[in-house]
This record gives sequence, C-alpha cells and structure tokens, in this order.
Amino acid sequence: MVLEPDSVSDIEAMKTAERILECFREPLALRQGDVFVSASIGVACSPATDSPSPEELLRHADAAMYRAKDAGRNCIALFDASMLERATQRLTLETALYRALERQELTLVYQPIIDLQLGDVLGFEALMRWECEDGSTSSPAQFIPIAEETGIIVPIGAWALIEALTHLRTWIDAGICPETASMSVNVSPRQLHDPQFVSVVSEALSRTRVQPQQLWLEMTESIMITEPEQALAALRRLNTLGVRIAIDDFGTGYSSLSLLQSFPIQRLKIDRSFISGIADDVSARSLVKTILAMSDALGLDTVAEGVETARQLEALIDLHCAKAQGYLISHPVAPEQMRNTVISLEKFSQWPKYSD
Ligand code: C2E
Ligand code: MG
Ligand code: MG
Repeated sequence: MVLEPDSVSDIEAMKTAERILECFREPLALRQGDVFVSASIGVACSPATDSPSPEELLRHADAAMYRAKDAGRNCIALFDASMLERATQRLTLETALYRALERQELTLVYQPIIDLQLGDVLGFEALMRWECEDGSTSSPAQFIPIAEETGIIVPIGAWALIEALTHLRTWIDAGICPETASMSVNVSPRQLHDPQFVSVVSEALSRTRVQPQQLWLEMTESIMITEPEQALAALRRLNTLGVRIAIDDFGTGYSSLSLLQSFPIQRLKIDRSFISGIADDVSARSLVKTILAMSDALGLDTVAEGVETARQLEALIDLHCAKAQGYLISHPVAPEQMRNTVISLEKFSQWPKYSD
C-alpha cells in the first residue's frame, strides 16, 4: 500500500503509480535465475471536500485494483463509483461461497465417458454445481475462478474428491458400473500447489476404498506454465500413488510440445472447440487426427470432449479415437439418475447401428 499525501491531483497519483509499475519491469535477480513479477495497481484519491473515510478510501483503491487485474494485469486503474457496485457484488458472492460448503449448497453432477469401440461406460467426470440460497444454480465458470482467487477452492476441492469417490464406490457396490470404472475430478492449479494436496487425495482414496488407478485428476495446460517446478513435483508424487493425470481442454492453452513430453501426464482431453467442426470441416478433422497421432506417439490416452452429434461421433470412430463424452452420449446427471443413465447408454454398445 502506498499513501501519497503530496499528490494534489488524480494525474499526479497516476504518475506515481506508473513509476511504481515501471520498477516491476526489471527482473529480480534471484539465485535460481531472473524472475519477473507483475503488479496490478488501483488508485483512489481523496478530494479536499467530501472526502471518504480512510476505510472507504482503501476500499476504493481495492476496487480499482480488481479492475486493473481484470484488464489483464500489469495495469493501473483509477477508481470511479461504478467500480464499487461490482466490488459489492463480488464480495456478496465471496461470502456466499464461503458458506456454500457448510450449508451443503454444492453438489456434483456426473457425465459418463464411453469407450468408442465397444460403447461401454468406462467412467465419469464430476462437475460442480452451486444451488444458491435463492434457488438459482450457478455454473462453475462463474464461481470456480472466485473460489480459486480466494483460496476457497482448497476445502471445496477436497470435498469434491471425497464426494465423487464416494459416489463411484456406491455405484460399483450397487452394480451400476463395472468394478474398474474410473472417476475424473477437475483440479485447479491452486489446489495442486497446496502442500497438503497429495495427502488429501490419498486419504480420499483410502476412505472410499477406490484404487488410485481409478482416479483421474483433470487439470488445464496452465499448470505446466505457472510454477512448473512445483507442479511437476506434485504430479510426480500423485503418479507415485498410482493416480493419473489428464490435461483438460487440450489445445486451447499455450503449452509447448516439450512441456507435454516432460510432464508426467497420462491423458489428453481434446477440447470441444476442435470436436465441433470435426464432421464438416476438413481442417478441424485434420487437427483432431494430428492430436490423436501425437497423443498415441507419446503413449497417452485420449478422450474427445463435447460430442454433440452422431456425425461427430462417427468421425471420431473413423479416426480411431478411443473415448468420448458429450451431450450426445449423456448430459451431466445427478447421482440418483446414474443407474437409468447407464442403462440407457447400452444403445451405444450396438454402435454403428445407432444413428440420428
Ligand atoms: P471441463 O472440465 O472441461 O468440463 C466440461 C464442460 O463442458 C462442463 O461444463 C460440461 O457440462 C460441458 N459439456 C459436456 N458435454 C458437452 C457438450 O456436448 N456440449 C457442450 N456445449 N458442453 C458440454 P461445466 O459443468 O459448466 O464446467 C465448466 C468448467 O468448470 C469445467 O470444464 C471445469 O474446468 C470447471 N469445473 C467444473 N467442476 C469443477 C470442480 O469440481 N473443480 C474445479 N476446479 N473445476 C471445475
Ligand atoms: Mg474436466
Ligand atoms: Mg474440458
């Protein structure tokens, strides 16, 4: 925090902020090598008349800082009143999210993943839903980023692991799915960097008596880029347990082929954006073909995400893609519906007779 009593105008305060930001352009020379640090700065001024209280002034600067972050980091934003409303909304959401776990407002829905050659259900992906107090349902795209930023993702993620594995255990015991079925759980970078994460995973497995080989942890390519050393160490420890790692939304991030080769991962999930054009667009099809060939050459398992039409499914089978999930196969469903969902998926084992 910088308090500048001498600035007499917004412009002067902005100039100070610019000078501060400028300092961050130089790398810090650490023993491990040069490190770059980015900064987001929010500026709030206290006019001579009608001045806000010190607490208010801080809140204003904070709201402006969030605006600067949203603008892509390494930015400066000057406070204006419209920012407060957004900050208040955000705070309400943050507080509600803190309570969501203890109030049992969070639930998981599950989407089956099938074997494209045999049509069998191989496993499930757990996807989080938040049924807010007012009865509305919030999508993870809205609340997961906030949970990540505030760190609430750590307890929420630990709960999701136990919950998903408990359901898998129940379905196996009830004969709803095969003994070997797997559960995929999405994991945020923040969770992976939590020193307790590996023991949380191992505890969840032993409590639910699920084999480590049946658990897939899905992470996006970003984990390979931010703090790669730390991520690498955590992934190795998870692999040692027997747990496997999938790269989610593959193809949408910035990971290089060399990172892909050096990270201990076992599965690529081809992002929906590539699958959507696969039936009609020659270049989309070539791209998927290339990803499949690369994945195969690296000895990785592949899952196609977001299959919505029978023609896409057909194209994937032609390309020898092994596994898929998507609305065509099944939407994510509540755990109580899984028995019926699995039964209705038997039609896929009669593929290729099955069509639109
Ligand atoms: P994701 O892991 O890539 O999950 C796939 C998303 O695509 C899900 O959205 C799913 O409902 C949706 N989807 C599945 N099939 C189709 C399809 O055929 N067409 C279309 N248009 N969409 C399809 P959802 O549930 O809204 O989740 C969004 C993202 O939020 C997930 O993407 C994942 O990154 C994150 N997320 C969800 N649950 C969790 C969680 O428990 N922990 C963490 N850290 N992230 C989660
Ligand atoms: Mg996923
Ligand atoms: Mg995905």
